Amino acid sequence: MENKVILVGKSIEELESFMIENNQSKYRARQVYNRLYIKPAKDIDSMTDLPVKTREMLKEKTQLCSISIKDKQVSKDGTIKFLFELQDGCCVEAVLMRFDNRANLTACISTQVGCPMGCDFCATAKLGFTRNLDTDEIIQQIFLIQSDTGLKVTNIVYMGQGEPLLNFDSLINSIKIFREHFQVGARRITVSTCGIIPSINKLADLNFQSTLAISLHAPNQEIRETIMPVAKKYKFNGLISALKQYTEKTKRRVTIEYVLMSNINDSVENAKELAAAISKLKSNVNLIVYNQNEKSHYKKPKKEAVQKFKYILEASGKKVTIRLERGNDIDAACGQLSLKMKTQKNCN
Ligand code: SAH
Repeated sequence: MENKVILVGKSIEELESFMIENNQSKYRARQVYNRLYIKPAKDIDSMTDLPVKTREMLKEKTQLCSISIKDKQVSKDGTIKFLFELQDGCCVEAVLMRFDNRANLTACISTQVGCPMGCDFCATAKLGFTRNLDTDEIIQQIFLIQSDTGLKVTNIVYMGQGEPLLNFDSLINSIKIFREHFQVGARRITVSTCGIIPSINKLADLNFQSTLAISLHAPNQEIRETIMPVAKKYKFNGLISALKQYTEKTKRRVTIEYVLMSNINDSVENAKELAAAISKLKSNVNLIVYNQNEKSHYKKPKKEAVQKFKYILEASGKKVTIRLERGNDIDAACGQLSLKMKTQKNCN
């Protein structure tokens, strides 16, 4: 593809300068801006509020995105999984979830092609790591979801493929664009990390106002390091201390994510130990029932174990939610984004 100007991500000022440079009236910029963020267009031709001449110029010099929708699957529960192809042929996935009785539409987006963290229970980890996405590739996922479905994404979770805190600058830049242009409030954005301590400290220094979620998944160092290699580098106690400092600096509560896996981390003792470990940390807990996949030897917890675990944490004073499982039938649930529907050659 030629090097055309990518429109998605541009501010109104940038669009105005571009229009003036290309002999168009400045006010046309606002119309383009609206078709990027307010009523997203599927392509330049469908921006029929612009004169034909302006559209011709735009088609010659610009393109909306550098990535494209390669495939799409719809789950029985309405969840949609998108497969995006990047310019170099790499693919990433994103998921759009609608929760019954709620007006919210949550998009789960990717920050890396594959993932380098190697969590033993996660299907994405099996892909290995190829590269970081750039800011444009992150924000275009939301543009394409909105233009394809005609729906407005109200919440964004960085819980797709990859470790967002290892792609720090693109993470921060993309959040800025989501807030400024896509009009998604800081509090409606959640970043999930497996616990990269130096980046958590950087977020604290930035006075990060979105929600930080931590994939803790274990009540102590011993269990954590058997399922998450990152724990060997960034130890359990150090992580909890970094999170305490984070909550003090930002005045924001963190979310502790905990995937319950049968006979690994789901016992009454595990629940008590977790409650003690996070008792002084300003946090809510989000329990996730393990999504089993055929390649993994980890198993779902029993219903009873989930309820007991929840009860013990609640009795310790924590607010606890159990994450609703979405899109399991199309491998769109947590930890299942493994590019199964990818058809073309690997981008490596
Ligand atoms: N790298 C970041 C972002 C990924 S978010 C992080 O680790 O937080 C994806 C979430 O799904 C993580 O909490 C991950 O640990 C969890 N997960 C992975 N495999 C899963 C599975 N099979 N069932 C449920 N959750 C899973």
